[in-house]
Amino acid sequence: MSDFSKKRLYFDNNATTAPSSYAISAVEKALKQWGNPSSTHQNASQAKALIWSARESLSAFLNCHPLEIIFTSGASESNNQAIKALFQDLSSSKRTELMISSVEHPSVFNQGLFLEKQGFKVHKIPVSREGFLDEDFLEKHLTEKTLLVSIMGANNETGLLFPIKKWIKKAHEKGALFHSDMVQILGKQKIDLKDLDIDLASFSGHKFYSVQGCGLLFCKKGVTLNSLIHGGAQERNRRAGTENLTGISAFGAVAKKGESFLEKSQKIQALRNDMEKRLLSALDDIEIINGSAPRLGNTSCLLIKGVIGETLMMSLDLKGIAISVGSACSSGKIESNSALRALGLSFQEAGNCIRISLGVENTKEEVDYLVETFISSVKRLRNLD
Ligand code: PLP
Repeated sequence: MSDFSKKRLYFDNNATTAPSSYAISAVEKALKQWGNPSSTHQNASQAKALIWSARESLSAFLNCHPLEIIFTSGASESNNQAIKALFQDLSSSKRTELMISSVEHPSVFNQGLFLEKQGFKVHKIPVSREGFLDEDFLEKHLTEKTLLVSIMGANNETGLLFPIKKWIKKAHEKGALFHSDMVQILGKQKIDLKDLDIDLASFSGHKFYSVQGCGLLFCKKGVTLNSLIHGGAQERNRRAGTENLTGISAFGAVAKKGESFLEKSQKIQALRNDMEKRLLSALDDIEIINGSAPRLGNTSCLLIKGVIGETLMMSLDLKGIAISVGSACSSGKIESNSALRALGLSFQEAGNCIRISLGVENTKEEVDYLVETFISSVKRLRNLD
């Protein structure tokens, strides 16, 4: 086996991906063309051209019109604009209800809690431990009162994929809009926004081999959306503030090579499947959360009975391996991951979960090392009891 003792191995790609060489070159170029795109001199024209080029590359990769893209600071902002900005102005609508899945990322889920406090009705669609969206619930609560349905394309913790195309059509039949947090799908599966006929969709550069601090909101032509940030007329009055030139350029540069990321994702799926097979055969009492549902090919959420996820994560970290856990320590106390709890896992089970998320740079040798180290660490931690 290769010697990885001096190299860190990264398996937390659903949290953030390493910037690709395309992103780094684009940032370097943008730093040299630093004019304010809103100015009118030649420095500004160069910056404006970079933004337009990124807009074109992203729209080609996502199959939408370049002007249907609103650049934002990331998916949290995109999600907030898609939901909160829509619920801010209900003057022309009798629709006042939101529907979200119960396993959304906090940047969607917590908006639901916020809107509830404002008096709006928010329906949270249950999802079973096996990974099935409660379609009867959806059918029942999708009515003429529904303003927006927001269901993520893929879950960040387990990789669970949702059948959004079907529900976009059903939402439209009821006259409702449909938004999806598609952050985790970008670069892993082909996305065709036109074919989906979706109204609003959120994306983030740093989950797609670009850089942190830049995302986008797709807003279908004809959908009226308020700005969340008021100020200048940037992004056609839909997002004020001087554009993040380096972030946007990097995002566009990666999108230009988007197909190659999709190809590499196939290879990653084979590595992930092989890794899961080997872990399951070497260790007892392991469950793959949402393991038999349609899932992203890079993600593995494992419940390891008798092992605290946080301890395993730290033990692997000391051996140079980065993974993540199903619970996060905030303000000194362990808090359970809300999406895992919503799937029906107990507090303790959620604390026994870890997430491994592969990226396009991971090799078979790295996964071999991860598997060996993971097995020995779990055995050691179980024997400590
Ligand atoms: N939505 C999902 C599914 C995510 O995984 C994340 C990041 O963890 C976000 C939204 C937030 O993205 P950003 O960091 O760009 O705000």
